[in-house]
Amino acid sequence: MDEVDYDFIAKHRKQKRQDYLKNREAYLQRAKEYYLRNKAKCTERAIKWNKTYRENRNKISKKYRIKNQTTIRKKAIEMRFVNREQINAYSRNRNHQRKLDVFKHYSPNLMCQCCGDNHLQFLTVDHIDGRKPHNHDYGFVGTKLYNWIIKNNYPEGFQILCMNCNFAKGVWGVCPHTKGVIKQHG
Ligand SMILES: [Zn+2]
Ligand SMILES: [Zn+2]
Repeated sequence: MDEVDYDFIAKHRKQKRQDYLKNREAYLQRAKEYYLRNKAKCTERAIKWNKTYRENRNKISKKYRIKNQTTIRKKAIEMRFVNREQINAYSRNRNHQRKLDVFKHYSPNLMCQCCGDNHLQFLTVDHIDGRKPHNHDYGFVGTKLYNWIIKNNYPEGFQILCMNCNFAKGVWGVCPHTKGVIKQHG
């Protein structure tokens, strides 16, 4: 029996990959041209391929997933740990973007609706008529609140206030510099 030269195969694959990367544009262009010339044939082939292999492939990968469940989970946790900086940065970014979306929706100029303060660090989302109508407890703040607002398609009943004005409204019902914008907490 001939021995399989895995080194050779690996080298060959690597070479092919490098060739591809070097001439990627040309390859893609050629593939595109081929596709445009043979659209019907390509579609037919793709449908046939899907019909023949997709189910089978799904079955195989499902089997693999079940068999290697623990390893896969462990690996996923590991990857999350290894990439945690990146993942954290990503979710920080995403959360910040969501916060901005919410704030801009209720206050396009990103200002306190009472005093006009425009330091984002000071701004908060105020439940105009209190938390009860929305069934929000006091833990319903920050990202949790922003996500809820987005998911519920920016409902009415919210305004942007700075912490001072929000605090004053909470304690005294009105802010010392009220212009009638603020309503009492329910
Ligand atoms: Zn204010
Ligand atoms: Zn105020």
